[in-house]
Amino acid sequence: MRGDEPLARYTTYRIGGPAAALVEPRSAEDVAAALAFAGETGSRWLALGLGSNMLIADAGFDGVVIRIGKGLDHATAVAPDTWVVGAGLPTPLLARRTAAAGLAGVHRLVGVPGTVGGGVVMNAGAHGQDFASVVQSVRTVAPTGAVTEVSGGALRWEYRDSGLRDVVVVATTLRLEPAARGDLEADVRRHLAWRKVGTPFDEPCCGSVFRNPEPPSGEERRTAGQLIDAAGLKGFTIGRAQVSPMHANYIVNLGGATAADVRRVIDAVHQRVQQQFGVELELEVKLLG
Ligand SMILES: Cc1cc2nc3c(=O)[nH]c(=O)nc-3n(C[C@H](O)[C@H](O)[C@H](O)COP(=O)(O)OP(=O)(O)OC[C@H]3O[C@@H](n4cnc5c(N)ncnc54)[C@H](O)[C@@H]3O)c2cc1C
Repeated sequence: MRGDEPLARYTTYRIGGPAAALVEPRSAEDVAAALAFAGETGSRWLALGLGSNMLIADAGFDGVVIRIGKGLDHATAVAPDTWVVGAGLPTPLLARRTAAAGLAGVHRLVGVPGTVGGGVVMNAGAHGQDFASVVQSVRTVAPTGAVTEVSGGALRWEYRDSGLRDVVVVATTLRLEPAARGDLEADVRRHLAWRKVGTPFDEPCCGSVFRNPEPPSGEERRTAGQLIDAAGLKGFTIGRAQVSPMHANYIVNLGGATAADVRRVIDAVHQRVQQQFGVELELEVKLLG
């Protein structure tokens, strides 16, 4: 455990002030101990994966951050098509390893740069695949320390949401589909190449900032990115935060951006799209603080 730990280095935005405490548990028991510590000290707590869907305030987080990574990053085949995977395993690694094992289901998530735990909680998805379609069960630790295996069928899966709240995910069991290894690996390469050409993949960002909206009745469906682009906002910049000229639903940190810069860009984009198209964009990125 480290006190007063700057969080910017733990997020893909490279933004975020200090946490009162940051813990890196290596087992479910460690997670339970971290939650007990938060309870005993009356502190708020937050589970963090690779921070690839988080915008953390410049003032930081006055609580305990429980960062799930190494030690909880195992992947074990328990049947030919069934893997038990630690919440700390990066999703791109899961995608590559399952493709190499000739298993389809999550290989197209190779460009989703979070952990499996964050992916399950957020129901991360891309190119027709998502966690909801493959999760058989999820192992969680509650603030009481209770470890529970929750069936995937019991979760309230939605677009970018699993309904999981107030627990820390430590592992998941995935049911995958046998397929030809060569085809899967070619698919992995194709989707990664698409990411590199079509999105600011190597720049500090959080992926899509807004959820794709439902269109007003009778109107054609347009993605958040298409609406922001049509509003002429590609390249729109405040401070060091910019609507990516490559993909309008990405707001990138040009280097030295503050959370306040990003939030001002978010507010401006939200307002402009509302005024111009009457569409209320909702955030996909999680704001902390
Ligand atoms: C370049 C880029 C491209 C992206 N593309 C996609 C995409 O195509 N599709 C997509 O769905 N997302 C995409 N994302 C967003 C992001 O990668 C996913 O949402 C990812 O699953 C988040 O995982 P994480 O470990 O980084 O979670 P974090 O950002 O650390 O956390 C996200 C949320 O999950 C919670 N959480 C994280 N881990 C746990 C845990 N173990 N237990 C309980 N709660 C937890 C956090 O408290 C927070 O509420 C992209 C992001 C980037 C930067």
